[in-house]
Amino acid sequence: MAVNYGEYRDIDMNGYDTVVVGAGFAGAVAARELAERRELRVLVIEKRDHIAGNMYDEHDEAGILVHRYGPHIFHTEKQRVFSYLRQFSGWIVYQHRVLADVHGTYLPVPFNENSLEIAFGEERAAVLIEKLVAAFGKDSQVTLHQLQAQDDPDLKEAADYVYENVFSYYTQKQWGLSPDEVDPEVIGRVPVRISRDDRYFREAYQGLPVFGYTKLFEAMLDHENITVCLGTEAESVFDLEFATEDADSPVAAIKLHDMAFTGPIVYTGPLDELFLSRFGRLPYRSLDFVYETYDEERKLPCGTVNYTVSEDYTRITEFKYLTHQQAPNTTIMKEYSRAYVDPDEQIPYYAILNDENRELHGRYRRLTETLPNFYPVGRLAEYRYYDMDDVVEASLDRVSAIVEDWDAAHPDWGLTMAARRAQREEREERARKGALA
Ligand code: FAD
Ligand code: UDP
Repeated sequence: MAVNYGEYRDIDMNGYDTVVVGAGFAGAVAARELAERRELRVLVIEKRDHIAGNMYDEHDEAGILVHRYGPHIFHTEKQRVFSYLRQFSGWIVYQHRVLADVHGTYLPVPFNENSLEIAFGEERAAVLIEKLVAAFGKDSQVTLHQLQAQDDPDLKEAADYVYENVFSYYTQKQWGLSPDEVDPEVIGRVPVRISRDDRYFREAYQGLPVFGYTKLFEAMLDHENITVCLGTEAESVFDLEFATEDADSPVAAIKLHDMAFTGPIVYTGPLDELFLSRFGRLPYRSLDFVYETYDEERKLPCGTVNYTVSEDYTRITEFKYLTHQQAPNTTIMKEYSRAYVDPDEQIPYYAILNDENRELHGRYRRLTETLPNFYPVGRLAEYRYYDMDDVVEASLDRVSAIVEDWDAAHPDWGLTMAARRAQREEREERARKGALA
């Protein structure tokens, strides 16, 4: 089988029980689960011309598998999430390693005992390591802010070094802010390690889908009950009805093809765009990606090099490290962080987390809160700094809530579900036999 693609203008809404906006992890998991768990017929609308959201990967002209929206390495402690995704693809085990280029010297990031030795020399590093172990414990990891809060002059020196050489310029490039101005949750993603563990992530499960993310998404969305309409933007097909004319009036109904749609609507796009940014735009950072292909087997010393004290780009990634692809040539990608100013030309990648922006998001969220069939989920809709595993988990949890609501509203659904499942299995069986004949 294959993904069922359709054209939105030809869609008869009577044929669908639920609508999912966005075909990234938040949307694809919801679509699959609603189709499987209650045999719901799912219409997915996606504004891009492909599925897989920011995980989209494809072979470039040189034949190298590249990620089109930033390098994506899956990492999680959530066994439930990894087992779930394993249904749709085999996985490569890959432990990501990152080096910071500090005036031509490579320092492992997260900054750790090996980085200390390179930066300070073995003798001085031994003193610093002893003090770090005494302060925080062997094999612990701490945030930059925790290190900066130490009174000991040696630890202060180490903290200043890490601030200046790892965080300050990179953060300025990435956010247009200093590390002190960025939400601590964001800076805290990259710790300082009191160990020699130089993997970027420490989680138990780390890797990538063996044939790439797009193939995984194809398997996930390959379901008889799911139709995907690409190139379809929610704001241009949703007709919102409001209770009153007031700007803060909540949405009373969402119409699709002139009919109020009463089934669950899972929305994974930015909430402000749905309301044409009536309270102002939710702030994001965007990115530009520049690819370079070389007739060499390898270009970088590891998967990603972060430019923490020089260059305009933040980091360079060489995809072959991540994907384990064998080829005589290689493609690398430079990332340039940009202000998000033009929704028509740019993609909102990173929510800029602070109280004011969360408040603005809350104001948009309140417009939909009284609509019983509207379920926002995902990095954009929830305005969160979610990794992929967080999004898959959030979407699985959201589906459980939707299913509960659905069951409460449709007490006799069991019979419909059994009949639909029997019909589906019969058709699948016929298709299998046809394929074998
Ligand atoms: P998305 O993947 O953004 O999917 C949302 C989809 O909805 C998109 O396809 C979009 O086109 C569509 N859409 C939006 N608005 C509308 C609309 N109005 N109408 C119709 N369709 C719409 N996470 C990791 O775990 N590991 C990593 O290594 C990692 N690297 C990253 C690198 C970068 C540069 C970035 C930006 C993020 C990275 N992430 C990583 C995070 C990861 O990208 C997110 O967790 C994931 O994309 C979230 O999935 P989502 O479905 O919420 O959003
Ligand atoms: N960061 C930094 N220097 C680095 C790596 C990260 O200053 O070498 C900061 C920067 O502010 C970044 C944040 O830590 O935005 C989180 O980094 P992470 O690698 O998790 O970002 P992502 O991969 O999500 O872009």
